[in-house]
Amino acid sequence: MRLMAVMAHPDDGELWCGGTLIIHAEKGDTVRICTLSYTDDSIRGKEALEGARRMGCEAACLGLGDTRVRDSDEAVEQLRNAMLSFLPDLLITHWFDDMHPDHEAVFLILRRALVSSFLSNSIGPLKTVPQIFCCDTYGSRGLRGPFQPDQLVDVTHVWERKLAAVHAHESQPLPFYLDMIERQCQIHGKATGTRYAEVFLHVPLFGWPDDSVRLGA
Ligand SMILES: [Zn+2]
Repeated sequence: MRLMAVMAHPDDGELWCGGTLIIHAEKGDTVRICTLSYTDDSIRGKEALEGARRMGCEAACLGLGDTRVRDSDEAVEQLRNAMLSFLPDLLITHWFDDMHPDHEAVFLILRRALVSSFLSNSIGPLKTVPQIFCCDTYGSRGLRGPFQPDQLVDVTHVWERKLAAVHAHESQPLPFYLDMIERQCQIHGKATGTRYAEVFLHVPLFGWPDDSVRLGA
């Protein structure tokens, strides 16, 4: 399987779905983190490449500005090209109700990029609809209420590897982020009898969601 995480910022993959990405990479799936902001040769881009390396994933940054990720034709075209070059079976991205404007914009950009891929005359090789999963966010709360996931991935056995990948982001306020994910993943884990869990919402952009697709399985 080919899994692409479409994220706003270089540390989002590690924070919100890092354990799940590690589990998929470990079982032989090809996993790529596509980050819309920063470039590969910037400080944060290099941290993204190192974090991905520690998780066994590929990574690429598309070069948009931090706090400037917005739903534009240029961003849609860039993401569309990134998806067509990778051909994902499964996508993880930010939640459409995410409080962070960059995160919210990524969902909008991804939705338009998918529609563009299917409906344009130059339809390209992306012929089946990838399954889409929205990830957790700050405090598991959105603009209109709490995040209500329908899939949970037990990441307890890869927790230390997830933390090691987060530590690649040396330029960031790590104590704040580490405390946040520790608490959130513990709360999600406790709800289902595991120590640490990451949570997702399966979103059908077109047609019916394929309920047989389970993250982390
Ligand atoms: Zn972010």
